[in-house]
Amino acid sequence: MSYVDEVIETIIEQNPGEAEFHQALREVMESIRVVVEENEEEYKKNALLERLANPERQIKFRVPWVDDNGQVQVNTGYRVQFNSAIGPYKGGLRFHSSVNIGIIKFLGFEQIFKNSLTGLPIGGGKGGSNFDPKGKSDREVMAFCQSFMTELYRHIGADTDVPAGDIGVGAREVGFLFGQYKRLSNLYEGVLTGKGLTFGGSLTRTEATGYGLLYFTNAMLKANDIDIAGKTIAVSGAGNVAIYAIEKAQQLGGKPVTCSDSTGWIYDSEGIDVELLKEIKEVKRERLTAYAKARESAEYHEGKGVWTVKCDIALPCATQNELQLEDAKSLVENGVLAVAEGANMPTTIEATEYLQENDVLFAPGKASNAGGVATSALEMAQNSQRLSWTFEEVDAKLQNIMENIFANAAAAAEEYGLDKNYVAGANIAGFKKVVEAMNAQGI
Ligand code: GLU
Repeated sequence: MSYVDEVIETIIEQNPGEAEFHQALREVMESIRVVVEENEEEYKKNALLERLANPERQIKFRVPWVDDNGQVQVNTGYRVQFNSAIGPYKGGLRFHSSVNIGIIKFLGFEQIFKNSLTGLPIGGGKGGSNFDPKGKSDREVMAFCQSFMTELYRHIGADTDVPAGDIGVGAREVGFLFGQYKRLSNLYEGVLTGKGLTFGGSLTRTEATGYGLLYFTNAMLKANDIDIAGKTIAVSGAGNVAIYAIEKAQQLGGKPVTCSDSTGWIYDSEGIDVELLKEIKEVKRERLTAYAKARESAEYHEGKGVWTVKCDIALPCATQNELQLEDAKSLVENGVLAVAEGANMPTTIEATEYLQENDVLFAPGKASNAGGVATSALEMAQNSQRLSWTFEEVDAKLQNIMENIFANAAAAAEEYGLDKNYVAGANIAGFKKVVEAMNAQGI
């Protein structure tokens, strides 16, 4: 059995029940196989892949808090400090009822390679809780965040581990978390990113993941002689990533016609009204039914369905495994040219393979959604300097980073004869840098 297969088998056996982590592990290991084969003896002797697939540290903790009825609730908190070879652990916190250790490990593992691809000095980590902020009052969210940070603060720091947002953790949550960190540590430092603009946040951080997704997509399309202008775009999700992907897609001349939330989806024949979407999702925290009520050109449908719409470009920006084989088939049937992931691992392995086999350009999330964490690293840099850069400065840096990520992923794919396989290219480019740093630092 090859070293890669041996490691996949052992890690899966040692970590039972962590389906999403197994999926991410398989995906990365399969694409770096070509690199491992060149260095098999050395990697095996150094247990390189085992070290890469085992987090440096996993923290699991109790999060008790009091709800508005005076009832004490107990949730579970996690922080997985996966790999610090190239910098302090960096990665978001996800608050969602589905969160378990397997999901946090999948996200943390992906984050290692994503962060490496940004070219900035950040290691990989991820955390979160099975707490769901949806439907909770501001006071309940604050109580939860304060309790969560009461345990987490001792494990993190501006030069140790820097959390940020992910699903369920936005500006409000980051603010409550930062306040509690400051109270407990007596340090005013860049320990979290995605902070409010009045207390050390970076301009463009809110827009960064969505904008970055479009900068990457545009670079990929251009390299393949496709013009984004006039293209119909299907987007899933209606959170921070989807909203700013829609906004930038429109600025580039594309026409996004869909978005979705956990209960249904919108088709807007006139193109999504992004200001209305922001008002409903960011200000009022309402469901998409409110969008359909406010706009004549929009239809609301219950359940899943975004991928049945005829489009040239598909941008899955909701959550893991939302784009499955049957969705890929329907996209191909409708003539899709490109799929670019805004969420983390939104496309199943089977769906990805089907799209690639049918010559659809495919941008993997760890490359195409890296703009969020890259801008987080720019926020860290500004915090260390005690300076803040202008929107234009950060946006220009972001665009440059995304174009470099595309160029590096494309070049790595080409080097191994895997032309246009940006999944393999991204994994290989991200992996190589981490390996070099791990080797230099000894066992
Ligand atoms: N949650 C985002 C991601 O998946 C951003 C993480 C960060 O900014 O640290 O990359």
